[in-house]
Amino acid sequence: MNRRLFLKWANLAGLAAAIPATSAFGATADHPKSPSASSAPKKAASPETILLKDYRPKSIYKIPVTEIRKAKFPIIDMHSHPYAKTPREIEDWIANMAQVGVEKTMILTMATGTEFDELYRKYSKYPERFEIWCGFDFAGYDKPGFGPGAVKELERCHQMGARGVGEIHDKGKGLRSGKSNAPGMHPDDPRMDALWEKCGELGMPISLHVADPIWMYQKMDKTNDGLMNAYEWRLDNQPGIVDLSGMVNIFERTLARHRNTTFVACHFMNLDYDLARLGEVLERNPNLYADISARYAETGPIPRFASQFYAKHAARLIYGTDMGVDKEMYRVTFRILESLDEHFYENEQFGYHWALNGFGLSDEILKQVYRDNAARLLASRRG
Ligand SMILES: [Zn+2]
Repeated sequence: MNRRLFLKWANLAGLAAAIPATSAFGATADHPKSPSASSAPKKAASPETILLKDYRPKSIYKIPVTEIRKAKFPIIDMHSHPYAKTPREIEDWIANMAQVGVEKTMILTMATGTEFDELYRKYSKYPERFEIWCGFDFAGYDKPGFGPGAVKELERCHQMGARGVGEIHDKGKGLRSGKSNAPGMHPDDPRMDALWEKCGELGMPISLHVADPIWMYQKMDKTNDGLMNAYEWRLDNQPGIVDLSGMVNIFERTLARHRNTTFVACHFMNLDYDLARLGEVLERNPNLYADISARYAETGPIPRFASQFYAKHAARLIYGTDMGVDKEMYRVTFRILESLDEHFYENEQFGYHWALNGFGLSDEILKQVYRDNAARLLASRRG
């Protein structure tokens, strides 16, 4: 999830005060927010001093605007989190899903132990609407004998009802699953073999997030294309971090090492800026899908190239959100995928200064990405 959404979610969950600057989701948020982000009343800035992060343009064009209240075809959302905390909030979410056309949502809890059990109890009351995925327990990963205990906990979660694993992160410093982390251990590490193999054996796909958008690794200067977002999540100042390309290579080695295990690369594997490379990785690795979650604003600027990519790899791309539970959030994703609208801003949703465009995907492609690919992946599981 993006930082704005994460903070909103954390506030709702009453967690904000307890969250360290480097959170489970955080890249490296150990940079204080700039003073202008405070809630102090602001005078209208002179055009000479408007900051890029405060720029909120409105489109001047009198062109068609498509309002899509419900997705054209039923959806399985493969990337979401336990945003709703109370039974009431869960009911509201289900109502939103019904209104916008989301049939089922994968709840990536990242959790194990009692934390997982509690989330499972909450969400499993609605088996038609939610699937609950567990995390990994990395305790003792740096001591001899790591493996059997983590596998045992995975089996326990599976027995309880977890049907997949996620979201597991490695932004270049090592694996993380919610509160459990393993600095320096990457997915292709032999210590991970037993876990990945067990996932294959149990028929549990893994939602794996590697790296972060490319501009977070680039110089924080006037040439950085995503500066206003990159700066807040910067990785360019992290010594010893595996870079984006290195993480893609690690992911690929993991895929080759565990052919009986199915992986879902979150957020286009963060190759939204280099979709041709993602295409090659997909072609080389039949046990891989990519979810399109939380990269709508990153692909919206390149609608022609993006829609060609969707056409070429329609069988391997799956819908996801990762952006909360609001109806408007879902509707923005529909507008980008379904419409041919041009140059529209969704600053509230995404926090970039640039305009977006719709891809106008065909019915055939929409059906695959919205539901059919996910349904095939989920149905292929044993157990
Ligand atoms: Zn996520």
